Amino acid sequence: MSAEHIREYEEDNDKVFLIRGFIEVRIPLKYYHKLAKRYSTEYIISFAEPRMVVNHITKRQLVFITRECGIPLLGHPAFGIIDRGTNLIQVRPLTGCNLNCIFCSVDEGRISRTRATDYIVEPGYLADKLKEVAKFKGGGVEAHIDGQCEPLLYPYMEELLERMSRIKEIEVISMQTNGILLNEARIEMLEEYVTRINLSINAIDEAIASMLAGARYPIRRVLANAKRVVDSNMDLLIAPVWVPGYNDREIEKIIRFALEIGAGKRYPPVGIQKYIPYRHGRKLKKSLTFREFYNKLAEWETEFGVKLILRPADFGMEKRARIPSPISKGERFRAQLIAEGRMFGEKLAIVRDRVITVRTDRRVGEFANFEIVRTHDGIFLAVEVQ
Ligand code: SF4
Repeated sequence: MSAEHIREYEEDNDKVFLIRGFIEVRIPLKYYHKLAKRYSTEYIISFAEPRMVVNHITKRQLVFITRECGIPLLGHPAFGIIDRGTNLIQVRPLTGCNLNCIFCSVDEGRISRTRATDYIVEPGYLADKLKEVAKFKGGGVEAHIDGQCEPLLYPYMEELLERMSRIKEIEVISMQTNGILLNEARIEMLEEYVTRINLSINAIDEAIASMLAGARYPIRRVLANAKRVVDSNMDLLIAPVWVPGYNDREIEKIIRFALEIGAGKRYPPVGIQKYIPYRHGRKLKKSLTFREFYNKLAEWETEFGVKLILRPADFGMEKRARIPSPISKGERFRAQLIAEGRMFGEKLAIVRDRVITVRTDRRVGEFANFEIVRTHDGIFLAVEVQ
């Protein structure tokens, strides 16, 4: 760990080592003073106890997933790799977001009430697993970096992208972002590897954009950087979430802006998403029916002369064989709980090289009997049984 990536300070009676602006290692000062007399900083950061590792942005406990820790990268919705049976592979290097959108489907950001734990995956481990999955899929793969997060918070992004770009089956690398962390230098780095940025701008009006983001949203800066992306080697897709009652008038402005700057060189310029209230997401009172949503999209298509009703084929997506699932619904297992789960009342366990979310009140380190109740898209959920 190079010292240039570490900032040290004291806060709330803790000694804090902030690594790459994202990973906080916190040690109570009374222990730190004793440890510092005997051990090097590097040793203290890596091994000293008591020690808390925290996501600097969300302040949640952060689990660092390395090859050595043995947590598999298939099976969880929030980190690792997701294969939904197409040539698009979702790559999820971390969790945690710098915004708190009022419509967030995964209840992200510091104000989250449901997410208990964040994860970050070591780039080499993630890239190697991706390589394995891409090889299985064959040529013409799109690797899409997204997740329950703002992907640009990932402190090892350049290393990950560099490794991904060496995987021969990957033809397209695309990435989701809320735009906050885009700047000239980052765009220059990204354009070396990335084909398309999916940028979620939800309003052109700053007050509305900020209200939707649940935080100040610097729209002027983001719009300037959107233009920079268009002028780079990358393509830009602007992907607003239409939240009825909040940004109805803004969507037209966004379409106009996307067309004005020339977004969508190879892909569609705008991908409007429908706000959908999810069980574990943030819920608003009003939502549109699919009929209302698509009727309006059809109207705008005529008005602006641009394709807005998009199909997977518009992004070169096609069906491909899935990585075979080694676990079936209804199977029962007994395994050790190896880490905290993403949500309260959840823990992680390992079965047949897959990570399983187990609903249980038991503690990490204990063993539990559980039954698999969900296996959709290779994501496994289990509940404890006696
Ligand atoms: S930017 Fe995305 S992940 Fe972050 S809070 Fe908003 S909707 Fe959720």
